[in-house]
Amino acid sequence: MLFEQYPKVSLLNGVTPIEHLHNLSKQLATNIYIKRDDNTGFALGGNKARKLEYLIADALEQGADTIVTCGGVQSNHARQTAAAAAKFGLNCHLILEDVAGTPVQDYHHSGNVLLNKLFGAAVHKSTSDNLAQDMEKLALELKQQGAKPYIVPMGGSSVVGSLGYLNCGLEIAKQLADMAVDIDIIVHATGSAGTQAGLLTGLAMANVNIPILGVCVSRSGEQQQNLVWQLCQQIQQLVQLPKALEIDCVRANGRYFGAGYGQMNEATKDVMLRVAQTEAILLDPVYTGKAMLGLIDLIEQGELRGKNCLFIHTGGAPGIFGYASEF
Ligand SMILES: *Cc1c(COP(=O)(O)O)cnc(C)c1O
Repeated sequence: MLFEQYPKVSLLNGVTPIEHLHNLSKQLATNIYIKRDDNTGFALGGNKARKLEYLIADALEQGADTIVTCGGVQSNHARQTAAAAAKFGLNCHLILEDVAGTPVQDYHHSGNVLLNKLFGAAVHKSTSDNLAQDMEKLALELKQQGAKPYIVPMGGSSVVGSLGYLNCGLEIAKQLADMAVDIDIIVHATGSAGTQAGLLTGLAMANVNIPILGVCVSRSGEQQQNLVWQLCQQIQQLVQLPKALEIDCVRANGRYFGAGYGQMNEATKDVMLRVAQTEAILLDPVYTGKAMLGLIDLIEQGELRGKNCLFIHTGGAPGIFGYASEF
C-alpha cells in the first residue's frame, strides 16, 4: 500500500513549529533548533498523538469498540491513548506498572494519573512483569464480556503507530527546506522505538540524509539500536522507500538515563531548570530532560559543538507534576 493510503484520523491541529533556541544556542556556541511536538495540540500534547492518528484509525477499521494499552504509572502514552479513545467514543483500559525509584506520593495521584481519570479510562495494575501478556489476558476477558478490544502495544510502537513519525519525518523535511537551514544532526529521546524508526524512514522517504541520534531512556545503546532496527525493517516492508535503510543509520546513546527508566537525577534536574529558565521550555524527567542532557553534554564535550542541531521535543510535561517532591 502507498503510505498516503493508510487510514488516519485527525488529532493534531496542524504542523508543529520548529523554533530556534536563541539563548541556549548563544550559551553553548551551537545552533539548537527545536521541533515542538510537545505542542501537538491534543490532550496536553506529546509524540503519541501522531502514532494514535494511525492506531485509532486502524482500530476503527477493525470494528473495535475498546482500546487496551499499557505503560508506567505516569505514562504519557497511556494518557494520550485515553484521550484519543474518549474523542472517538471508544472504551479505554490501561494496565499501568509501578516504576522503581519514583516518588511515593504525587507519582501515583497527580500528572498523567489524574488526567487518565478525567478522560474516563479504566485503570488496572499490572499483575505480572510481562505487560504484553497482561494485555492479552485482559483483552480475552473483555471479549468474553462481548467487547471488541484492540491492543495498542507499549508506547504505541507497532508498525502502524510508527507511521505517525514517518509522517513527522516528511513534515520536518519540508519545514527545513522552507526554512533553508542545514541541520547536521537530529537528537531525541528514544524508548519504545517508534519515534526513531518512523523518523528514519520518513526522512529516507523524503530523500533527506540527516543523522538521527536517539538518547536512550531505559536500555543500552546497543539494545536500543536493535529495537529501532527491527521496527525500521518492518516499516520498510510496508512502505516503499526510494533507497533501503542500512543498519548503521540507527544510532542510540545509552549513557544518559542514569539509574533507570523514570528515575530522576541531579544532572537531569539541572538541565530541566536551565532550559525552563533560559528558554521557558518545559522538559520532563523521564524522556526529554534526559535527551536534552545528552545533547548539551555532547555539545560541551565537543562532539556536537558548533553544529546545527535539531532537538525533537516529544512532550511529557504533564508528568512533571508526578515529580513535584523532587523540586
Ligand atoms: C513515549 C515518549 C518518548 C519515546 O518515544 P518512543 O516512540 O517510545 O521511542 C519520548 N518522549 C516522550 C515525552 C514520550 O512520552
